[in-house]
Parts: sequence; structure tokens; C-alpha cells
Amino acid sequence: MLRYEDLLDRLYSRLPTKGPTQPIELPQLDVVHVGLHTHIKNFKEVCDRIRREPRIVMRYLLKELAAKGSLDDSNNLTIFSRISSQTLNTLFNRFLMSYVRCSTCGSFDTILKKQGKVWIISCLACGAETPVKPV
Ligand SMILES: [Zn+2]
Repeated sequence: MLRYEDLLDRLYSRLPTKGPTQPIELPQLDVVHVGLHTHIKNFKEVCDRIRREPRIVMRYLLKELAAKGSLDDSNNLTIFSRISSQTLNTLFNRFLMSYVRCSTCGSFDTILKKQGKVWIISCLACGAETPVKPV
């Protein structure tokens, strides 16, 4: 039988050291350059993980980059410009902060609800609902 303190120790040792704003359990975008194009190999997998439609994440990235691109048959993203992995991951992190992270408890375990023109981040951890600007 574990003591309560041991359980707490265990819990805390698993917490990310950089604080709750760093979604370290989420994968980074796996970026490859093919000629003048940029391909994100794990785009669908990452979108599934954060429970967001690839289309929405794509729209956000392309808008911020002022670039064109499209989803392929397996919902992975190709951007028709050369964008560095660092730039893409920085933008992706910004998306996570604005459209995935619950502003009440900091959890990334959320879903995005659309009610007409209003988008709402609904937190599966604490139940908070936060309206956000549509992408
Ligand atoms: Zn929350």
C-alpha cells in the first residue's frame, strides 16, 4: 500500500518541469523540404492528438505564413513554399496556446465547439468554456 505522500511525489515527478504552458507531451511537427515545398509528415497524427480538424490547423498556419498549401489524401499538409521547421513549430505552438490550451486550468485536453460564427474551447479537464476568435 502506497502512502499518500509517495503518491504525491510520484505525481509531481511526472509533471513537466517547464510549467503548464509547455505542452511537452505533444509531438512537434515533423517537417521535410521537397524542392520548394514543405511537407509536414505527421500533420494528421498531431491534429488527431489535439482533437482539431486538420483543415482548421492548416488554415491558421497558411494565414500566418501568407502561404498556399493543401492537404493530401492522408490529411498531411504540404505548403507551397519553403518554411523552416522552427518557424512552423513556433506558429504551431502559438495555435496550441490560442486554440487548444484551456485559459482557466492550462490543460490541453480540450475540444473546439462551433456554434454558428462563435468558436468555443471546451475543456475536458475542468469544464470551462472559452470563446475564441474563429480562424
Ligand atoms: Zn480547463
